Amino acid sequence: MNSIYNCPHCGKKSFNPLTKAMAGQLNSKGKVCMECGRRCVNGKGATIFNAVFSVIAFACIIILYLNSPKTYGTEYEWLYIYEIPIDIGIIALKLIVPRLVNAFFFKMSPAIRIEPVK
Ligand SMILES: [Zn+2]
Repeated sequence: MNSIYNCPHCGKKSFNPLTKAMAGQLNSKGKVCMECGRRCVNGKGATIFNAVFSVIAFACIIILYLNSPKTYGTEYEWLYIYEIPIDIGIIALKLIVPRLVNAFFFKMSPAIRIEPVK
């Protein structure tokens, strides 16, 4: 069966959600396949998703900053109080969500970064 955990080089199912999450994206070094020893990364889909997600998360932080009241005593007082915790939450999501997505979605592809020949 051709699952997302198959190695793009040898086709063997040599990855699991954990190792796939650690493989990074197209611009990273990737993770070595246990079967054939060649490097694999999460493919284009994962890379695009992560880029879009980062932009959205960043946009949320900016929007929150621009819209949150700078004093107590307004309708959005809660936002004044919770702005920093919400920012921290968004940053945490930005760290966690792409890894979860890498773990459970999108196919892998061969690492593009050229490794020195041994
Ligand atoms: Zn392989």
